[in-house]
Amino acid sequence: MTVQRTGIYPGSFDPVTTGHIDIITRSRRLMDRLVVGVAVNTGKSPLFGFDERVDMLCAEIADLPSGAGMAEIEVRPIEGLLVRFARNCGASMIVRGLRAVSDFDYEFQMAGMNARMERDIETVFLMASERHTFIASRLVKEVALLGGDYSSFVPERVGRRLAEEVERHRERKASAD
Ligand code: ADP
Repeated sequence: MTVQRTGIYPGSFDPVTTGHIDIITRSRRLMDRLVVGVAVNTGKSPLFGFDERVDMLCAEIADLPSGAGMAEIEVRPIEGLLVRFARNCGASMIVRGLRAVSDFDYEFQMAGMNARMERDIETVFLMASERHTFIASRLVKEVALLGGDYSSFVPERVGRRLAEEVERHRERKASAD
C-alpha cells in the first residue's frame, strides 16, 4: 500500500501573490495532497476579508495545471493552533517559504515550537525563487495604496481586485476628510 503524503501551506494570503503561487506549484511535487490553509484571523488588520482572500486564492489555484506527480490542492480555513490544523488534515509536513534572513528568525522559532508540540510533523522550507524574493503581500498593499505599479507581483485577477479595493479605500478616505 502506498502512503498518501499530505502537506499544509499556511498563510494569510492578503492577497495571494506570485510568490505564494510559486511555493504552491513547487510544493505540489513533494506530496500527494496539499492543503492551503488560510488564516481566518490574521493578527494584522487585513485589506481583504477572509472570503475574498479565499476566493482569490481558489481562482488562481483552479488555473494551475494538474497531472501525474502533482498533488491535489484543497483550500481550508485555519483557526487556532497550526499543528492541530495540520494533524486534523492528516498532514506530515508544513510548507513555508523563506525569502530572507528576516523570515528565518521567526520561522526558526515557529518550526522549533511546532516540532516540540507535534514530533511527527516536519516543517519544510522552500527558498523563494529569485524572481519572487522581494515580493510580500504587505509591501504589495503598500505600493498599491501609494499608487505604484504592482502588476508584476500579483496574478492579473488579483491586480484588478486590488485596484478596486484601492479605489474604495480612496473614496472612503476622501469622504472622511
Ligand atoms: P504570513 O502572514 O504568515 O507572513 P503570508 O501569507 O504572507 O504569511 O505567506 C505565507 C507563507 O508564504 C510564508 O511562509 C511566507 O514566508 C511565504 N511567502 C510569502 N511570500 C513569498 C514569496 N514571495 N516567496 C516565497 N515565499 C513567500
